[in-house]
Amino acid sequence: MAVSQVHEILIAKNDHHLLSADADVYALAYKDTLAAFEEYLTVPDRAVFLQHLEEGNTDWFTGSFIIEPKRHYFLRFLPRLHADENIHLILSPVDKVIDSYQDMVFTMSSQRAMLGLFEDLFFEYRSETDTIIFYNTDHSHFDPGEHSFTEFVGGLQGIVTKENVLPLEMLIRHIKEKTASFAITLSQNIFNEDPAITDTMFRGAVAHHEGFGESVIGLIHPLRQRGSGGEGKITYDALTGLINKADITQISIDRINNRCIANTSIAIVDIDYFKHVNDSHGHQFGDLVLRQVAAIMKNEIGEHGLCGRIGGDEFFVIFNSSVTDEGRRAHLCNIKSLVKATFPDKGPQGEKPITLSIGSATYPSDATNYNDLFMVADYCLYLAKEKGRNRYIMYTRDRHPSLEQIRNRKTEGDNLVNGRDDLPLGDVLVQMQFMIRYGKQPALTSLLSEFSDRFNIPLVMLALEDPQMPLIITGKQEGESAPLLRELDLLLHPAFRSSHLFKQEMVICNNIIHLPAELRPLVSERLEKADIHSFVVCPFTDTKSRKAALIFISLHYNQVWNEQHYMYYRLFVDSLKLYDLKPYCV
Ligand code: GH3
Ligand code: MG
Repeated sequence: MAVSQVHEILIAKNDHHLLSADADVYALAYKDTLAAFEEYLTVPDRAVFLQHLEEGNTDWFTGSFIIEPKRHYFLRFLPRLHADENIHLILSPVDKVIDSYQDMVFTMSSQRAMLGLFEDLFFEYRSETDTIIFYNTDHSHFDPGEHSFTEFVGGLQGIVTKENVLPLEMLIRHIKEKTASFAITLSQNIFNEDPAITDTMFRGAVAHHEGFGESVIGLIHPLRQRGSGGEGKITYDALTGLINKADITQISIDRINNRCIANTSIAIVDIDYFKHVNDSHGHQFGDLVLRQVAAIMKNEIGEHGLCGRIGGDEFFVIFNSSVTDEGRRAHLCNIKSLVKATFPDKGPQGEKPITLSIGSATYPSDATNYNDLFMVADYCLYLAKEKGRNRYIMYTRDRHPSLEQIRNRKTEGDNLVNGRDDLPLGDVLVQMQFMIRYGKQPALTSLLSEFSDRFNIPLVMLALEDPQMPLIITGKQEGESAPLLRELDLLLHPAFRSSHLFKQEMVICNNIIHLPAELRPLVSERLEKADIHSFVVCPFTDTKSRKAALIFISLHYNQVWNEQHYMYYRLFVDSLKLYDLKPYCV
């Protein structure tokens, strides 16, 4: 499948007028078609064109046409065997060559000015000769001209750090295998000696030139991102180099709630089935994916906004107010397709690509404050997941539920864990743990209620050991919990828990008739009266070392707790240790 459109052009050797070309090229000829071809080009490009022609230089160069000066093209003269032959050249629109329209047009539209600023280095890989050619390389380690690809790779292998060995291998593979389009970031400056450059991104695409074979065309883009100045107190996520959650949230609140900057959009980006990536390829590879996704986002958004990491595999973009809906759509689309192309076979079911789901919304048209705006974007993300993932959804009033409906939907006890009911319980737990650890910490009340729901536990109570008051009661039997309250002191009593039959960290009783003899007369009697026949007590301490316990109970009948319950409950209680219980104290 050709990513690029390549136009073949024949011009007369004497006056350079068009002899043969397709309709697209004729459309670029803004005045009569007998004019010299170079006259259709913008003035600076005209000089480059004539120079290449005069020198018989068959390297690629870039140019744009007067009729459409913002669109850029790669041009190349084909070798002429005889001086009296007409001139044959090929032309390919840059935006089609690199499968990422917006960014490249943006980059290329000020290419010359930007070379000094961003130092982007354009390259081309030719498979017939196994060589790589660098253009415009004044500021980098890479010398202009054609080099052996093996030597280029050897040079890189000699300088990359351990963590970049794998990304480098991926890069080589992308280039050699001519992946349709790719973006790989090395987390070091392999570009030059500038200490402010922290990462180096390679992005490119294969260009098919009908009748002339294929080559890979791309650019090397140095990134100055991690804490390299200008942004004051902003702190960055250590793994990805993106702005951390607290700061990107604060920046958004400032722009939306305080400064009321109209047309500020946000987007929440979540990797699909990321748990699977970790499970199948290891956590280290998972980390690499997170870094690459972050770099792709950062590079794509560039000056048009800010990117942050707000959860394990959840990212956030705040777009500048100058970005139009169409611009935002293009950015999100580019991020999505570059991630897909970068990991074409590391997603679920073996051969599938890694994909993203994205939800996005705009202030003030979609919501008038940050919290609501986040809720709307989050709803769109949820919708994207629901509709089968691998898509972005931008909120629109006429196509989506109203703010009020979204809000009600949330308060009606929507699942915390991805809105799915059929997840294996282990997955539910992992997601809960990650949400608590790295995402937005859910309210304890919702967490417990979802836990009792998912795990089908009739009654769950969270209590402080002192003063032995229940903090939260939830579960199907919540309404019947009154008799149990009187017995709480009993279940929480250390003497009771330390009885030799019980493991100190967790007490499981499947039938009160099996309680140790010394406990039986009093305890069994009291519990039986309260219609409690089996229970589990898990003591823990919160972030402020308050002693607490989570108690699982079934009233009226004796639920049999098995080893799985034991394992799951222990894991769940580990999550509770990350809470500060104070706000829930009555
Ligand atoms: P979904 O399509 O519903 O989003 O499925 P998912 O598997 O991506 O689910 P979810 O987003 O809830 O999974 C987040 C996973 O992210 C869980 C955890 O294994 C992983 N994770 C979180 N932080 C890190 C990290 O720093 N490194 C790695 N390697 N994995 C992480
Ligand atoms: Mg995910």
